[in-house]
Formats: sequence, C-alpha cells, structure tokens
Amino acid sequence: MITDYAPRISASFGSEPPRHILSLSGGKDSAALAIYLRDRIPEIEYVFHDTDKELPETYDYIGRLEAILGKRIHRTTPTDSFDHWLTVYKGMLPSNHRRWCTKMLKLKPFEAYVGDGPVINYVGLRADENRSGYISTKSNILAVYPFQDDGLVRADIIRILEDSGLGLPPYMDWGRSRSGCFFCFYQQKIEWVRLLETHPSYFELAMEYEERAVQFGEQFYWCQSESLRELARPERVAKIKSDWEKAQARKKANRKSLSLVETLGGLEVEDDSHLRDGCLVCSI
Ligand code: SF4
Repeated sequence: MITDYAPRISASFGSEPPRHILSLSGGKDSAALAIYLRDRIPEIEYVFHDTDKELPETYDYIGRLEAILGKRIHRTTPTDSFDHWLTVYKGMLPSNHRRWCTKMLKLKPFEAYVGDGPVINYVGLRADENRSGYISTKSNILAVYPFQDDGLVRADIIRILEDSGLGLPPYMDWGRSRSGCFFCFYQQKIEWVRLLETHPSYFELAMEYEERAVQFGEQFYWCQSESLRELARPERVAKIKSDWEKAQARKKANRKSLSLVETLGGLEVEDDSHLRDGCLVCSI
C-alpha cells in the first residue's frame, strides 16, 4: 500500500504547497527510493551533497541514476572544503562523537538548498531496520519514510534496483557497504583493508590526514585506536581478514533462516546492520 502523506502535509503546512526533496547519498536505499517515487511524485527534487571526498564509484552511480530517473540531480557543494573545516576544528578528525563533517558538508548545504519554505524530506529508511540517524531538524522540514510506511524491506529495495537496471552501488562489488567519504570513520576495519587493496591512493590520502593531525599536538585516528599505517601492515591485514571471515562464518551458522525471497532469488547481500547510527544523509 502506498502511504498518502496529504493529511500530514496539510496538518504541518496548511494550504501552502511544500517542495518535495529527496537527498541521495550514493547508497542503495536512497537510490531505490528515488526510483520508487519517480512516477508517484513527478515534482520531486533530487539532491546529492557532494563532499568532494566521495569514491569514484559513487559519482558513477549518481550519474547512472540520473540517467534512469531522466531528471537532473542537483549537486550541492559545501561553502568550504573538508580541509578548511579540518583546520577550523584544529586538526581534530571527525568521529562518531565529533561529527562536524556531516554538519558542515552535508546538513548545512542541504538546509541552504531547502531554504525556509515548507519541505517534505523523503528518507530511505527501510521497514526491516530500526536505525536512528542524524537528519535536519529545521522546523520547515517534514521528514517522511515511505519504505517504512509502505513496509518495504531489503529484498524489495534490491528488486527495485535490479528491475530498473541500476543495480547495487559498484563499490559493493569490492566489499564496501557504505557510501560517503572514502575516509569515513564509520568503516569497519575490513572495509579499510578493502579500500587499501582497491584504491591504494585513497587509503594513502586518508593516512596522510592522520599523520598531518600530529602538527595540531594530538594524534587522532580514523579507527580510534589504531593508525592506518599500523592497519596496513601485511600481518595486520591478514589478521583483519581472517577475523572477518571467522565472524562471517559464525554469523552464517547463527542465522536462523533466510527469507524465502532471498533464498530463491539469490538476493542475499552483505549484512548492513552495522550501518545503524551512521549519518542517514551520508549512508542511506
Ligand atoms: S561520510 Fe562519514 S566522513 Fe563523510 S561526512 Fe558523512 S560521516 Fe563524515
């Protein structure tokens, strides 16, 4: 069933017609939502908040999505670069507790794009996840969650993407589960290893950010307790891989049962429950 938001819209904004906006992160769920809503809400505006630190695969995915939607995806750019804000924050790399990057590179550009008029913000949270996230709380923005309201789960999202010809984001081919900046601190260690192996130059850049942080008098690491230089040592890479494989085997053994559609359709994708609590605007 397709949820009708008209009563909530008129309760929130009266007779003033709102703009309809969907922020794309470069992730599969927001891409699927864009396709899901394309014909239902022809006036919808698609926005991608470009931090200039995204993976090439993300830019490629956004470009292909734009072709499928047949509509321009507006790219916002922050007022100042990540490097500028890093200096303002005295070299303190962003982390889960210091999430200045999302605020400065994603949320503020989104709020500037939205302005002060009434806006419906469509968010791609699925019905099979219970993620909370960091989204704008401006009073003129009403967030709605069509996949949750319409009961769509991960298998539905994958089907939407496959039916449209877009498929999953290409970075998932090499085992990265999230969109967003190549150095995002929400990455698991195994994802850092995969970044090292797939895009060594990006790994090197991430490592340079850590090493430059020393000049500010304190050492900050993307992974909190371990520097990327330590993580890149061959014996450490081998250990991270073997730990990850063991954890996957345990998870598989513990999994009660796959849903029928996943089993029959071969639609199983890597568990993305670790994306919980990330930034919705970056990774959904
Ligand atoms: S993707 Fe990660 S590093 Fe980039 S803005 Fe979002 S939370 Fe920050």
